[in-house]
Amino acid sequence: MEQPYVVVGASLAGAKAVEALRAEGYRGPVELIGEEPDLPYERPPLSKGYLQGKTPRAEFEVHSADWYRGNDVALRLGTAVTAIDPDGHTVTLADGERLGFAKLLLTTGAAPRRLPVPGGDRPDVLTLRRVGDSERIRARLVPGARIVVVGAGWIGLETAAAARLAGAEVTVLEVAELPLLRVLGREVAQVFADLHRAKGVDLRFGVQVAAVEDGGVRLGDGSLVPADTVVVGVGIKPNAQLAEAAGLEVDNGVRTDEHLRTSHPDVFAAGDVANAFHPLFGRPIRVEHWANALNQPATAAKSMLGRDAVYDRVPYFFTDQYDLGMEYTGYVEPGGYDRVVFRGDVPGREFIAFWTSGGRVLAGMNVNVWDVTDPIRELVRSGRTVDEERLADPAVPLAGLAG
Ligand SMILES: Cc1cc2nc3c(=O)[nH]c(=O)nc-3n(C[C@H](O)[C@H](O)[C@H](O)COP(=O)(O)OP(=O)(O)OC[C@H]3O[C@@H](n4cnc5c(N)ncnc54)[C@H](O)[C@@H]3O)c2cc1C
Repeated sequence: MEQPYVVVGASLAGAKAVEALRAEGYRGPVELIGEEPDLPYERPPLSKGYLQGKTPRAEFEVHSADWYRGNDVALRLGTAVTAIDPDGHTVTLADGERLGFAKLLLTTGAAPRRLPVPGGDRPDVLTLRRVGDSERIRARLVPGARIVVVGAGWIGLETAAAARLAGAEVTVLEVAELPLLRVLGREVAQVFADLHRAKGVDLRFGVQVAAVEDGGVRLGDGSLVPADTVVVGVGIKPNAQLAEAAGLEVDNGVRTDEHLRTSHPDVFAAGDVANAFHPLFGRPIRVEHWANALNQPATAAKSMLGRDAVYDRVPYFFTDQYDLGMEYTGYVEPGGYDRVVFRGDVPGREFIAFWTSGGRVLAGMNVNVWDVTDPIRELVRSGRTVDEERLADPAVPLAGLAG
């Protein structure tokens, strides 16, 4: 009997992978296995429209149940894979069943980090990754509720925005001096600090959380920040345990080459879990963004089918907070730039920021300015040196600068 192509992890990357296998014309058996009970869904609305009660659940399913049936994809939901055996070509399910595979794709994603302090693992300390988490938090976002968010990253800030929009009192605790400092650097991080302060969020920087207690969050200086609800957004860790236990190369996620092949020739990885060699940057990067989970699976599927495919897209992500929408295209290591060039109206929050190094654009972020992702991507990809005065000048078309 023909062994199936097995995909472990039934979220965005997993669902796009089975779609790509069929789109590539593969007609053999395909199994998609996921431990969550729900049909694969996209996560960005969980901290935005769904958390605000605006976006209905059905809008962010990747495919309908009919799609999987119609494309002959065997879906095993509510089913955790507990072990993989790459040489033996089997996966073991939580109930002990073993399933053979011809090729295996790991799309196991990532899980929220907990706060490493006393009380950090209390059940009432909430994190936000799954649809149930979003529903649990949403139920607490009521006028006057005291919501304390630990961590001023993307998830923390989007949660703070949803809480303010619901009329809650919001305090954000952050160990760094500014929100998103590592990803954006000081110049642009300030934009997000100003935004949340203007919306009435009590932002506290340079604070250490010492413990979570019944009444709230205890800080390193001994003071207590009172809280009805504590939401923690202090980053995620890749779900690489299966790969690690099977002896695959794991280093900040499952290491893959540019074809998304792991250290075993029949096992592949994509999405948040994959630390994939990126030809544009000349080294592996692990991207924790929607667009990566959306696009990498097509390359993984082709590679599984023995076709020559390379994943070299420029990373891209987006956020929506209050009336600020932004897209970010590119990749910058913390501190890995020498200038930020602004084009447009920064106080009015309608601008593009470019991170440059030696006159080359590493990344661009458009804030409330639209339809510029293509030229920004070309600027990043081209690696060309650009005149920074022209880069700052809204009258100079971006497409021209990219060549
Ligand atoms: C609240 C929230 C908001 C976000 N907003 C944005 C945004 O605005 N912009 C943006 O670019 N990105 C955003 N992201 C990031 C984006 O959602 C992720 O990059 C994307 O979900 C990654 O998809 P994935 O399929 O690789 O992994 P995941 O979505 O993590 O899915 C992995 C799946 O594998 C399952 N799994 C894990 N281990 C096993 C196992 N052993 N057996 C079976 N199943 C297993 C998990 O249960 C999970 O269902 C957001 C993420 C969250 C949580």
